[in-house]
Amino acid sequence: MPRIGLFGGTFNPVHTGHLRIAEEIREHFNLDNIIFIPTGIPPHKKRSEVIDPLHRLSMVELAIAPYKYFAVSAIEADRQGFSYSIDTVNALQQEMGKTAELYFIVGIDAFLDIRTWKDVDDLLTLCNFIVIPRPGHRFIDLKGVNLPALKDVSAEDLESLDRREILRLSIPLTGRFHLFLEQITPCDISSTGLRRLIKERKGLKNLLPDSVVSYIIKKRLYSQ
Ligand code: ATP
Repeated sequence: MPRIGLFGGTFNPVHTGHLRIAEEIREHFNLDNIIFIPTGIPPHKKRSEVIDPLHRLSMVELAIAPYKYFAVSAIEADRQGFSYSIDTVNALQQEMGKTAELYFIVGIDAFLDIRTWKDVDDLLTLCNFIVIPRPGHRFIDLKGVNLPALKDVSAEDLESLDRREILRLSIPLTGRFHLFLEQITPCDISSTGLRRLIKERKGLKNLLPDSVVSYIIKKRLYSQ
């Protein structure tokens, strides 16, 4: 059964943090492949700051080119407007057949808002979820998220995870799926910070793949 990670994001632009996260998660979960899925224009991000999906898609293509286990899907970028995760997961599941085991990868900052996602309770019945840490956010904050799956998770366990005394909490979802709260190496890179650096013409070394830097310069992105 192929084990596939789904890594959605604005990727505005994709950065080395995204690549590092995907690599580490692939190793931890023994995934065969990770598919990066750039969004269309998301409603919750400031519209003017999010550049054309086709540029974001091209940058992901360049960034993942050296990695044989990574792929990119245009399923969301090709659609007009925004796609909901539940529709994307359903569509990819159909495309890959029911035999693929899907792992939806998401940062804790995004997962803390999960109650605002479309049909979240149904979404959580469709595949596995992997929630990864991000500087400035804590797993213990999940105590404030009203999800049935999190009801029996103790504050002590979440705090132990935050302190890295344990590295994974595995929480059963419906059927055979799990919600994994997973410690990985912290990485303090954000696309927001990078857009600022580009605007200020600061150095980008080790923050973006060189191919992506060249693309940004050539297309004059983020400089206005
Ligand atoms: P922005 O700063 O524009 O909000 P971003 O850096 O958060 O962008 P996204 O494309 O929105 O990048 O992120 C895609 C996914 O990767 C999200 O689930 C996000 O939480 C996660 N993510 C991005 N950067 C990191 C990071 N440094 N550590 C952990 N998770 C991250």
